[in-house]
Amino acid sequence: SRELHVVVLGAGGVGKSCLTAQFVHNEWIESYDPTIEDSYRTQVQVDGRQVILEILDTAGTEQFGMKSLPSSPTALPTNSRVVAMRDLYMKTGQGFLLVFSITSPSSLSELESLREEIIRIKDEENVPMVIVGNKADLEEGRVIPRAKGFAVSQKWGAPYYEASARTRTNVDEVFIDLCRQMLRK
Ligand code: GDP
Ligand code: MG
Repeated sequence: SRELHVVVLGAGGVGKSCLTAQFVHNEWIESYDPTIEDSYRTQVQVDGRQVILEILDTAGTEQFGMKSLPSSPTALPTNSRVVAMRDLYMKTGQGFLLVFSITSPSSLSELESLREEIIRIKDEENVPMVIVGNKADLEEGRVIPRAKGFAVSQKWGAPYYEASARTRTNVDEVFIDLCRQMLRK
């Protein structure tokens, strides 16, 4: 069966780890170490095909700091190492979940630069992506209207889902949509 590399990207605190934990382990984790960057292997059925997903849950854009990196006696300054790591997983990644929180306006604008970076690194416009507006259970805290998510989706030509890792809403859907896009490539 095919092995597909998925990268979960977005600002710190938007729920990347919680979404990944729900998808892979069916569990809600209230509090997840924000500095942990880890990958998970899981097998899924997509339209009758067995697929092995290798999911990289990244540590978020502003959390790319020394704390999240193992210390090593490299000569490269930390920033260059961080950039090199990001370049590497953007190259390896075949599909990207771009996650923001509907309760954080800056988390949506942060996706813009991440998307540009992916397209630049892969040197291709047609990269499988799904835009995820997470924390949809927090309707009372919403600052990003649903229409804004759809406008970005239209502009980028990538599907938009509102999801909740807490209530497990649209969690499978976003990963499966991404798988379908990757399988079409
Ligand atoms: P990450 O930094 O993007 O990996 O974010 P986390 O997955 O660690 O989640 C950050 C915080 O948001 C945690 O306190 C979670 O409990 C909370 N959280 C994540 N997803 C949701 C969600 O869908 N709904 C609500 N209400 N809280 C969430
Ligand atoms: Mg995390």
